[in-house]
Amino acid sequence: KIEVKSIYFEYDGLEILQDINLTIKEGEFIVFMGPSGSGKSTLLRLLIGLSRPNKGEIFVNNQLLTDSIPDCSVVFQDYSLFPWLTAKENVILALRQKLKKSKTKKELEHLAQSYLELVQLSHAVDKYPGEMSGGMRQRAAIARALSIGSDLMFMDEPFGALDPLTRIHLQNLILQVNREQQRTIVFVTHDAEEAIFLADRIVMFTPGPPGRIAEVIDVPFPKPRNRKQLYQSLEF
Ligand code: ATP
Ligand code: MG
Repeated sequence: KIEVKSIYFEYDGLEILQDINLTIKEGEFIVFMGPSGSGKSTLLRLLIGLSRPNKGEIFVNNQLLTDSIPDCSVVFQDYSLFPWLTAKENVILALRQKLKKSKTKKELEHLAQSYLELVQLSHAVDKYPGEMSGGMRQRAAIARALSIGSDLMFMDEPFGALDPLTRIHLQNLILQVNREQQRTIVFVTHDAEEAIFLADRIVMFTPGPPGRIAEVIDVPFPKPRNRKQLYQSLEF
């Protein structure tokens, strides 16, 4: 559970976020939407503990987020793979941190391979980030995030560089991870259809800065079957 209480954030005197209040329940799929520059990534970084708010408090599982970074896995807009490691080695590194020394090298390799298979990268396990396309790097970063197995996942436009078919495959995969493993997911996208397909709730940011939350939309469940139904149900 994440509780955001009246968060304010500024860069060099410029207010980026103003009075943000939000509660994210365990197992919930939350999607942030809103114009470019409205503070979505900024709020995500605050939730992960990578920067500090100027005012307000964030609680993760009833603990005040101070100097520690919560146990979570992250897919950033810029993928953030280690460029000197192959796709497989990037995943193995994450697995090793999680599993410590309980697995042999062979078992780790096997596991890493299976996560890369989930994101349809079995053909590129030995490639370095510099040898991969944007979409491949994105998928490697997603495989790594999944392999960490944390209950809390933050994903900032993780599917932006993917072709439509791969995107649908990964949307289904991530939804399955959320539903079956009860992982809490905070996800940023500019794609309304993707948001409605994935989200339990959509948090809409106002054009900013300063970014505020304009509204929080509960997405009806079961999901509407077609686009028309969808937009009708949301009164877009
Ligand atoms: P996008 O949809 O384009 O990713 P966003 O909603 O994620 O946009 P943020 O990246 O959170 O937007 O940026 C919010 C505001 O903060 C913008 O006005 C941006 O210029 C500013 N900003 C972001 N990072 C920095 C930084 N390192 N230094 C100064 N200003 C920054
Ligand atoms: Mg962003």
